[in-house]
Amino acid sequence: MLNPKTIRADFPLYTEHPHIVYLDSSATALKPKAVLDALDGYYRIYSANVFRGLYGLSERATAEYERSRDVVAHFIGAQSSDTVIFTRNATESLNLLAYSLGNRIIQKGKRVVVSMAEHHANFVPWQQIAMKHGAEFVVVPCDSDGKVELHDDASIDKIVTKDTVLVALFWVSNVLGSVNDIAAITKKIKQKNPNTLVVVDAAQAVTTFPVHVTELGCDFLAFSGHKLFGPTGIGVLWGKKELLEDMEPFMYGGDMIERVSVTESTFAQLPHRFEAGTPHIAGAIGLAAAIEYIAGVGVHNAHQHTQKMIKHALTGLARFKHIRILGSSDPTKRVGLVSFVHDRIHPHDLGDILSKDDVCVRAGHHCAMPLHTHEGIAASTRASTSIYTTTDDIERLLAGIKKAEQILL
Ligand code: PLP
Repeated sequence: MLNPKTIRADFPLYTEHPHIVYLDSSATALKPKAVLDALDGYYRIYSANVFRGLYGLSERATAEYERSRDVVAHFIGAQSSDTVIFTRNATESLNLLAYSLGNRIIQKGKRVVVSMAEHHANFVPWQQIAMKHGAEFVVVPCDSDGKVELHDDASIDKIVTKDTVLVALFWVSNVLGSVNDIAAITKKIKQKNPNTLVVVDAAQAVTTFPVHVTELGCDFLAFSGHKLFGPTGIGVLWGKKELLEDMEPFMYGGDMIERVSVTESTFAQLPHRFEAGTPHIAGAIGLAAAIEYIAGVGVHNAHQHTQKMIKHALTGLARFKHIRILGSSDPTKRVGLVSFVHDRIHPHDLGDILSKDDVCVRAGHHCAMPLHTHEGIAASTRASTSIYTTTDDIERLLAGIKKAEQILL
């Protein structure tokens, strides 16, 4: 079991703000000193562009950038590092896929499937490409535990047809905290139609579950560095090699070409054909440091700790008669985040009152408007925990809600 008070010593933000109750790690996690040092090291000691200079600094920057790719590949169980594409974030990873692959395969007469609880990043790109080409866009609901209703053969049979070219699903919902059994769903989808591609949005899963892309059986997987204690501006798209090789570049420019003439251009091999222009070198290096940091803590320990915190939160929230939890109230069926609605207090008012006591939560639709509309609400409040969350933090959240009720009801 990890000790969040010891962990806090690794996070300089707590030195600056010793009284802060940071319950918004699902939006972005705090950054450990190891990540800040890695960023600082690049900018201070070997700041140079990659792949371009025949001098020591550039060679070191290139080596560290490519080492970071190896670290990511190992972290997600990818068989080769060239299947790891650095992007800006999960959103860009999914858009890259939608443009480069979706535009080709999502055509009239074909079907693309998402769930009702997708983040807009894994909903809108597929919706827009489907609309553009006149393809069918199917949105599958979630059950009362917040899992996509694709568990059994009957639902798979209905949703996955011979024309279903792609299914894009969250692994962990950023609103419901629910967990899709990706390996089982993928297996069933592939049994029904081996040509259906499965895209996994792992943005909220990478801090909680060990990732092994081969065991998941999916075709593509996307996540952001900043939710994994890494810097903002760096993300990852992993894909099966033969599928990536078959895709058109997403952006054109420097570093992604093989040869350019006035009449034609040919493109670099993987992964560089998808990384046009100067990449976020420091970001990739910082992400590797973040992955090494969380590996030291242990993803399993992180999961156990955040589940303990959310169990505490769920027990406390259950005492408020005006509060409704979105998703399961059973902590074993969710990860360390909880979204809820108060039937008398708007989430923005609650968030505002909490913030006056240094309690940071997220209020709004959390980029999941279809889900909120389906639930008959415009917004909710979300508290999300991490390895540095303490029971004291949860108590201060509960005390803040009580205070808001005293002020507003
Ligand atoms: N998918 C999920 C489930 C998320 O929670 C988020 C961000 O909150 C994203 C995708 C998009 O991440 P980013 O904004 O880093 O691209």
